[in-house]
Amino acid sequence: MSERVEVSPVATGGAGVPVPAGLALARTRSELAAERSRLTGRVAVVMTMGALHEGHATLFRRAREQCDSVIATIFLNPLQFGPNEDLAKYPRTLDADLRLCTREGVDVVFAPSPDVVYPDGDPGVMVSAGRLGTLLEGASRPGHFDGVLTVVAKLLHLARPDAAYFGQKDAQQLLLIRRMVRVGVDVVAVPTVREADGLAMSSRNEYLTALDREVALTLPQSLHAGIVHAAEGASAIRRAARDVLVREPLCRVDYLVLAHPDTLDDVPEWYRGEALLAVAARVGTTRLIDNVLVTVGQENDVSEVGAP
Ligand code: AMP
Repeated sequence: MSERVEVSPVATGGAGVPVPAGLALARTRSELAAERSRLTGRVAVVMTMGALHEGHATLFRRAREQCDSVIATIFLNPLQFGPNEDLAKYPRTLDADLRLCTREGVDVVFAPSPDVVYPDGDPGVMVSAGRLGTLLEGASRPGHFDGVLTVVAKLLHLARPDAAYFGQKDAQQLLLIRRMVRVGVDVVAVPTVREADGLAMSSRNEYLTALDREVALTLPQSLHAGIVHAAEGASAIRRAARDVLVREPLCRVDYLVLAHPDTLDDVPEWYRGEALLAVAARVGTTRLIDNVLVTVGQENDVSEVGAP
């Protein structure tokens, strides 16, 4: 049986997790199937790793506006973390996550343990992200996107949504998911949600010290500088963005690219049209990513990445 509490505002579920009233928490495949069969109309899924913030809430809200029912998945997918990455210290805040889901009108939360998603321990069969999965984030995080696509494929099969909502914040992930899911499910992109000073919201921002938090602003500031020079062409955009990054030695840049949004190849100087200006950097012990879509060859609205 899944945990559904209708009477008291907050009750303690079987695993000791308080489940807010009106929200169904499914921990197993059969519990999710039972909850899914109760949902009617157009069903949305929003996949997350938990430690939910306003960025996730915006995805839930968009899904709620456009669909009749919303399933949120909360699953810290070990397959997409490398051996030296932050799986062990990644924030786990299920109680608060369930409250946020309730507030945002989520109907069902699927929060499985790894053995529910991968009953044999090893997934056996995996999705390969191919060449696109080896670029940018994939170059720094080998195998990351194979892990992402494998879990997304599994969660799509389990949740059977009509639409799936993903953040533009993870632009390469979004591109790969669009490539994998060509038919059957509408993949909907939601623009990056930022703090008032421009920093893209991320569960990993919790790792930042006060100094790191200041230094982290270099990322949106560099994107902002790039956009300001959009009309002048590709090299002017790259130069302006890089100039901001190099002025902050505590921001250790992994990559800065101006790339075609479909191929992720660097755009040439003559290129006109939409391009992805993407950056990844280490600040303290935290690796941060950010991006913005720029229209090369014309003036752009610079408000998207906040104040310079
Ligand atoms: P995560 O929990 O980090 O795996 O993110 C789950 C989903 O939320 C992904 O589709 C992310 O792209 C999206 N997301 C995370 N942060 C933001 C943000 N600041 N703005 C918009 N979407 C976001």
